[in-house]
This record gives sequence, structure tokens and C-alpha cells, in this order.
Amino acid sequence: MSLSRERLHRAVNSTDLGWDDRREKDVDILTAMGMTDSRSEVLALGGNLIVLKTSARSKSIFYIPGNDLYKATQTAAIKGLCDVTRRTLRQIRQDQRMYLSGMAVTEWLHDRCPECNGTGRMKNDKGQVVAECATCQGTGQRTYGHTERRATLRAGMRGCKTDQFGKLYHQHWSKAMDELHAMIVLAERYKQRAVAKMLENY
Ligand SMILES: [Zn+2]
Repeated sequence: MSLSRERLHRAVNSTDLGWDDRREKDVDILTAMGMTDSRSEVLALGGNLIVLKTSARSKSIFYIPGNDLYKATQTAAIKGLCDVTRRTLRQIRQDQRMYLSGMAVTEWLHDRCPECNGTGRMKNDKGQVVAECATCQGTGQRTYGHTERRATLRAGMRGCKTDQFGKLYHQHWSKAMDELHAMIVLAERYKQRAVAKMLENY
């Protein structure tokens, strides 16, 4: 079967966890989400990321941004991302990789252009679309530039001397952010495929 991202997100926010042996329901998708977690750390990471993304944008009754369950999932996702990149980003100290992982997860969660709220269009007082959003050029996506990232890093990278900062940023941290974002995309897709495959087999 095919399992779209939207279908997966709907299941994570299910309001009906009833089971029916004649048709596939949300509970089947959630079971497959849980069962695939134990297969690899990338799949567990993908699961945590999907839960975070979904609950940050909907009315989940379990995961409310800021509550304990949400925070635990957020911590697990950040640690998971730090763990799965330990080899590709081995040149970066573990505590710094953890901080970068936190930044990447936060950026990925908050990826809507704040100017147009992710719609890509600007509206007038009457709600009519009047122009394409100039901030995101109509994509609806929020982009994080070097200036913003450098400011966040300056605040968080402890034990880093000011004179080393620029060099470290350009040689390691900026590239590391690209790597971390690529891993996030990979983990999410990999999880989606693994869940679809498990549903096919049962
Ligand atoms: Zn915009």
C-alpha cells in the first residue's frame, strides 16, 4: 500500500484508536510506527521526528509543545540525531554536535515563513491575496541564513574562544548543519517507507 506523509500525520493525531479487522485504521499505522522503532536508530529517530512535527502543528491531545511527553520526544530526537551522525560528523565534539542537532531539529520544526505563515502569499485586510510573499518568494518556507545561525551558535557554544568562532563556523559547523538536515529528511522518509512496508506484510 502507499502511505502518504499526510496519512501518517493524521494517524499520529488520531482521535479514534478503535480496531477493525476488515480495514486499516489509525491504530494499525501507530502500531507499525512503534514496531519499526526497534529496528534501527534511524527508524526510531524518524518516528520521534514525525511525532514532533505533527503535534507542533495540530491539536494532539497527548503531545502539546512544552508538556513532558513532548519534551521527552524532543530530547530523544535530538539525542538520536546526534547519535546517528557520530561517524559522519566525528570531527565535531560530542557536546557541540548535540547543540547543532538541537538547532537542526528546531529549524526543521519551524520551517514556515513567519511573514506569510507558510502560505507564500500576502493578503489585505479583506483576506484577498494581493502579492507573493517577498520574504520567502512565495515558497512558504523559512530559511535560516548564516547570520541567524551564527547568532544562535554564539549563544550556545560554550568553551569556544571568540577568535576561533568564525573559523570553526565556516570549516565545520555550517557544513554540519547541512549534514544534520539531510539526515532528518532521510530518517523521516525511511520511517515512512518502513511503516508502509510493515502494513503491507500484515
Ligand atoms: Zn513567506
